[in-house]
Amino acid sequence: MHLNTKLIHAGQEPDIQTGAVNVAISVSSTFKQDGVGGFRSGFEYARGGNPSRNSLETTLAAVENGKYGRAFASGLAASSAIIATLNPGDEIIATADIYGGTYRLFTKVYPKYNIKVKWVDSHSAVDILAAITPDTKLIWLETPTNPLLNIIDIAKVAAKKPASVLLVVDNTFASPFFQTPLDLGADLVIHSTTKYISGHSDIIGGAVITNSAELDEALHFQQYANGAVPSPFDCYLTQRGLKTLAVRMERHQSNAYDIAHFLRSHAHVEKVFFVGFTDHPGHAIAKNQMRGFPGMVSFLIKGGRKAADQFFDRVKVFTFAESLGAVESLTCYPYLMTHGGIPEEIKDRIGIADNLIRLSVGIEDINDLLDDLKQALE
Ligand SMILES: *Cc1c(COP(=O)(O)O)cnc(C)c1O
Repeated sequence: MHLNTKLIHAGQEPDIQTGAVNVAISVSSTFKQDGVGGFRSGFEYARGGNPSRNSLETTLAAVENGKYGRAFASGLAASSAIIATLNPGDEIIATADIYGGTYRLFTKVYPKYNIKVKWVDSHSAVDILAAITPDTKLIWLETPTNPLLNIIDIAKVAAKKPASVLLVVDNTFASPFFQTPLDLGADLVIHSTTKYISGHSDIIGGAVITNSAELDEALHFQQYANGAVPSPFDCYLTQRGLKTLAVRMERHQSNAYDIAHFLRSHAHVEKVFFVGFTDHPGHAIAKNQMRGFPGMVSFLIKGGRKAADQFFDRVKVFTFAESLGAVESLTCYPYLMTHGGIPEEIKDRIGIADNLIRLSVGIEDINDLLDDLKQALE
């Protein structure tokens, strides 16, 4: 099946007993056993798995072109499950402009267990590979990055890294509609399903997808042993959101394209970051590894922090809020929001300026979005 069909049908066959076309929300926390060890359907206690979660995990694996999927209670729980498979002394390589919550996890939680991170400022595959040491166990990439939309060549990193180093790609920004990192050689794909995958700002969730049975087993152990699993209702909402991923992403893309071009020609805008620009430094790699570009557009407003504050105050269709990837357009201030936890000098170095505004372009009518930006910028 092709992606648009898998989104709607993979793991979602009509119910055998009733014919229901939607997967039931299976609320049972426990399952009857026929004597000791007599499991009827492989389910035992729902932390280990239940029909709602299994179904979602099948869909997630299918749409990322992977064999195995595991759903978690949040994107960070999914990330944490991967890191928890490491041992003291192991090292992670990550780019310095990584999502603020992942940065917090790497710098405030795991150093206590002597799991260290080596930060790389560059987005060149060569520089990332050069950071590998005998202790390196994971390379952790986001591409496009947040919020400056830098691009990293996934296939190049995957092809040149030693087999003992696993490549993790956080695919939250691209979504499987535009990018499938396992096809490019990544070992693990993670998602904050809170964003494009569920798409309606109504759940917090995460997922990990892989082709390795061994890694999948380690992740299942983390679900069971650490317990950061999603509720059956959240699984249902995520699966329901996924059904429309393709049509949503097409509209996100076309709206973002128009907005990026509008902003670029506006007198009050200093610079626009959008992967779809042919002169974006990562455009050629992006065109090679992505099938299109999501609704993320960032820009530098003229007039510094004061102008940014006025902009946030005046937008009406765009909502000033954290998060991204949902049907409604959002705008945020990375300097104090998504990247608020990152030290000042690092923000300076990686370009998170105090006049930087991030847009998550939604799927509303483009004319209303453009009118809103016009009046706010004036
Ligand atoms: C939001 C986000 C996360 C964290 O996910 P939660 O669901 O908020 O825990 C991780 N990576 C990226 C790129 C994100 O945008």
